[in-house]
Amino acid sequence: MAKVRINKERCKGCGYCLVVCPKKNLKTGETMNVRGVFAVVAVGEDNCSGCGMCYIMCPDACIEIESGPDPSPASDPAARESAGSESVRHE
Ligand code: SF4
Ligand code: SF4
Repeated sequence: MAKVRINKERCKGCGYCLVVCPKKNLKTGETMNVRGVFAVVAVGEDNCSGCGMCYIMCPDACIEIESGPDPSPASDPAARESAGSESVRHE
């Protein structure tokens, strides 16, 4: 299972990530950030498939996906090629 991390201070609240998440694992949070918007947060740590759609869609590079030690091959193709943990990051 993967884990999604969101840089809440960079989030501009556009909602693109909410729309594309097939697991409905993201929602609008209840805390206003420095940009004056309610940043997106993860619903639960155990619900992310690691598909990376939110990471791809975010225009402000707020999202990182961390693969867990035992992700599902059916939902995370990258996991078939690598074992253990890895991170995907915007530079
Ligand atoms: S990686 Fe996929 S399942 Fe996980 S939060 Fe992002 S869009 Fe949803
Ligand atoms: S796509 Fe990025 S900027 Fe837009 S709501 Fe999601 S995390 Fe925030």
